[in-house]
Amino acid sequence: MNHFEYKDDELYCEGVSLAKIAEECGTPAYVYSHATFTRHFQVFDEALASVPHLICFSVKANSNIAILNLLGSLGCGADIVSGGELVRALRAGIAADKIVFSGVGKTAEEMRSALEAGILSFNVESVAELELLNTVAGEVGKMAPVSLRINPDVDAKTHPYISTGLQKNKFGIPWTRAEESYQRAAEMAHIEVKGVDCHIGSQLVDTKPFVAASEKLAILVDSLFEQGIPITHLDVGGGLGIRYSEPGEDEPPSPASYGEALLGPLTCLRKHNIKLLCEPGRVIAGNAGVLLTKVLYCKESEVKKFAITDAAFNDLMRPSLYDAYHPIRPVAKHADREMIVSDVVGPICESGDFFARDRDLVEVRAGELLSIGSAGAYGFSMSSNYNSRPRACEILVKGSDYHVIRKRETVEQMLENESIPEL
Ligand SMILES: *Cc1c(COP(=O)(O)O)cnc(C)c1O
Repeated sequence: MNHFEYKDDELYCEGVSLAKIAEECGTPAYVYSHATFTRHFQVFDEALASVPHLICFSVKANSNIAILNLLGSLGCGADIVSGGELVRALRAGIAADKIVFSGVGKTAEEMRSALEAGILSFNVESVAELELLNTVAGEVGKMAPVSLRINPDVDAKTHPYISTGLQKNKFGIPWTRAEESYQRAAEMAHIEVKGVDCHIGSQLVDTKPFVAASEKLAILVDSLFEQGIPITHLDVGGGLGIRYSEPGEDEPPSPASYGEALLGPLTCLRKHNIKLLCEPGRVIAGNAGVLLTKVLYCKESEVKKFAITDAAFNDLMRPSLYDAYHPIRPVAKHADREMIVSDVVGPICESGDFFARDRDLVEVRAGELLSIGSAGAYGFSMSSNYNSRPRACEILVKGSDYHVIRKRETVEQMLENESIPEL
C-alpha cells in the first residue's frame, strides 16, 4: 500500500498534488511519501515482532539523509557499503551501534572510520579482508566486531546482476569454508566474532530461497556454538522484492509471509538467545517514491509512438540496467482520451534511454506530467550526471506539506571540482 492516489482525476502524494510540486520545484523531481515510508517500516517490523530484532535499512537503496533520519526516528538502523554512507547514516542521527558495514571491497580508511565511530558489526566477505581489518583494528587500538558473510549457494532466481548467493558470485565466504574461516577469525587478536551474515540477492519474489538460506545458516550457527564460538546476532540480509507491475501480476510475498518463511527454520535464535538482524532496502523504499517528469515532445515514427520526457536514464537507471518495469501514470487523468501504445523515453542519445517500451498508456501530450512509479529505491541513489545533466531534486511529502530534501543540482555545482591546468 502507498499514498500516491488520484483525487478528482489529479494524482496526489498524500495531501499534495504532484502538479503543484512540479510547478513549484520543477521536473524531473523525486517525490517521496512520509506516510508510506513509515508504514512500510512498521509492517516489516511487525513481521519480525516475535523475535528480538534490528532492522538495518540498506542505505544504498535511498541514501538521502532526510529519509535516513525518518527511518532512524522509527528505530531503524543502517546497513552501509562505504565510508560515505557511514557519514550519511551518522549525520542522519542513526546511532553507530545500529550500523552494520557490508561490501566486498572495504578500504583500510573506511575500516578505520567505522571502528572509530563504533559500529555494531563489519560484515566481512573474505579472509583477506579479515586480516586487513585485524591489522587496522590493532592500529586503532580497538576490537573489530565481525560477522562473516556466508554465501549459502542458493539460487535467488532474480536478475543475474542482483543475484548474490551463488558460488559463482563475488560475494561472501563459500559455505564450504565457513567453519574454517570462523576458526581463523576467532584466533585473531583484534577481531571479536559477533555474528553470521548472509545476503542472497535483491528483488526476490519467492520465499523458497530465503527458507533454503535460513536452513543452512541455522546449521552453521549450531555448529559454531558447538565449537565454542558463540555469536550474538544473525543477519539475514535484505532482498525481499516489491511489485513493480500492475496489481495482481508478479505478486511478491508480503513482509508477514517473508517473516514466517524466514523464522521457521531459525529456531536457533531462541535456543541460543541470538538477535535477528536484517537489511531490507527496496521493500521499505521502492513504492514510497515516484519520479515526476514532464513530457517534452510526442513523436511518431512509421512503426512507433514516443513520449519524450525531461527525465532520462541518468535520473533512473533501472529500466536500462535491469530491463526493469516501472508503472507510469499521468498526473492529470483525461477521461476522453484514447489508449495508445507508446514508448516513454528520455532525451539522451542512446537507445537504452527508456522508461517503458510498447506500453499501453492513455494518450499523453507535450507539456503534461507523468509519474514513474516504484522509484523510491535505487532511483536517485543510482543517478548520475551523464550528458552533463544536473541531478534531480528530492521532495518529501508529509500530509499536506512538502519539503525539499535535496535541492536540484546546478550546473555550477556539477563543474565545481573541474579545472583547466596551465600547460
Ligand atoms: C543491496 C543490499 C541489501 C538490500 O537489498 P534490497 O534488495 O534492497 O533489500 C542488503 N544487504 C546487502 C549486503 C546488499 O548489498
